Amino acid sequence: MPQSPGHATQPIVSRHVAVIGAGAAGLVTARELRREGHSVVVFERGDQVGGLWVYTPNVESDQIGLDPTRTTVHSSVYHSLRTNLPRDSMGFSDYPFVAKDDPDRDPRLFPGHREVMMYLQDFAREFGIDELVRLETEVVRVRFVEEEEKWKIKSKQRHKEMDEIFDAVVVCNGHYTQPLVSHVPGINKWSGKQMHSHNYRDPKPFQDQVVVLIGNSASAFDISRDLVGVAKEVHIAARTVKCETFGKQPAYDNLWLHPMIKNVCEDGSVHFQDGSFVIANIIIHCTGYKYHFPFLETNGFVIVDDNRVGPLYKHIFPPALAPWLSFVGIPFQVITFPMFELQSKWIAGVLSNRITLPSQEEMMEDVKALYSSLEASGTPKRETHALDDKQVWWLMTYFQYKFC
Ligand code: FAD
Repeated sequence: MPQSPGHATQPIVSRHVAVIGAGAAGLVTARELRREGHSVVVFERGDQVGGLWVYTPNVESDQIGLDPTRTTVHSSVYHSLRTNLPRDSMGFSDYPFVAKDDPDRDPRLFPGHREVMMYLQDFAREFGIDELVRLETEVVRVRFVEEEEKWKIKSKQRHKEMDEIFDAVVVCNGHYTQPLVSHVPGINKWSGKQMHSHNYRDPKPFQDQVVVLIGNSASAFDISRDLVGVAKEVHIAARTVKCETFGKQPAYDNLWLHPMIKNVCEDGSVHFQDGSFVIANIIIHCTGYKYHFPFLETNGFVIVDDNRVGPLYKHIFPPALAPWLSFVGIPFQVITFPMFELQSKWIAGVLSNRITLPSQEEMMEDVKALYSSLEASGTPKRETHALDDKQVWWLMTYFQYKFC
């Protein structure tokens, strides 16, 4: 009988699998692994499931996020945040994110962050994932033990450390926590304050301030609109807008759009590339995040280079360690929750032998072909995982394995 692509003929087996993180990616991964018959432990350093959707008013001790010894906070969610996708596109396939007839819930099409957290917590309860999750347990080290061909995970729960052995590890630790900060010439002598959008929570501290935001992402857009009601002036320095939109923004008295910052000076001035300047109190870097896997030891088989995590076959499997190490949720500019579900179905099926991966060499060739095509199109390495208008093709790629 002809086999569908990637269909395996080996006996179906159950593995002992560690999932790192209980955000949307980790929760659906745990469900898919268990459905496939694997035994699963989910490690979660927070005190509840939901990942970045668990809002906290707390911020980090170094608000720009450069000091490696700072106290860290996982979530980047701000108080006013509503989803930027309609809820219909944020549900898992058999557990839609529908509005609930409950006065405690948010029925809007683009609901606030608490509603997403509650959806994820309902999902975890509904599928019994809660019982697989070890809360307040941080993974501090993940290492492949060659002699045993197993993964050794060291975790820490309060003051207790534990070493355990797993057949496979799925990394779902999120990638919106480690701030990426742009270099601003003159910043070391600048007299104002700086922070990253990761530590923005609400507009109150910015009362009557002149604020400059760097970036043109969803967070720069949201935060600027949050600030206009309380700040004296809000200025956005953006790289990727058409110049005819620069200047004072229609419908606002105190919001301006500028080209990028040229430099800043000791007197508090911020100079833009078109020669204009403002005297500002604070700069907020809305400049994105770095992939960060401080716990992962792979002897160089997986590295982060200019925010490219690689090599990863289809953004999931490092060829040399597949399928025993995998990643869910690496791509961005994508419909996230459905992608997590499709990626995790694939991983679960490969681990049970129901689906086969191509050989290590073939996977490496595929990764190299992707890198070559990105280079040919002038795409910088840091955009490797930006799916954007290519996401339908990628989702179809993941989708075909669902039926294998
Ligand atoms: P996270 O939700 O970050 O979860 C990772 C989990 O891993 C966390 O619980 C963390 O505590 C845990 N963890 C990390 N390291 C360790 C460790 N060493 N040991 C144990 N546990 C660990 N997507 C949308 O679909 N719609 C939106 O509207 C939307 N808005 C967004 C707004 C903002 C400001 C941001 C930053 C992102 C937004 N996203 C949105 C994208 C968002 O990333 C995804 O929706 C998704 O929730 C990410 O899930 P995740 O599980 O990959 O990561």
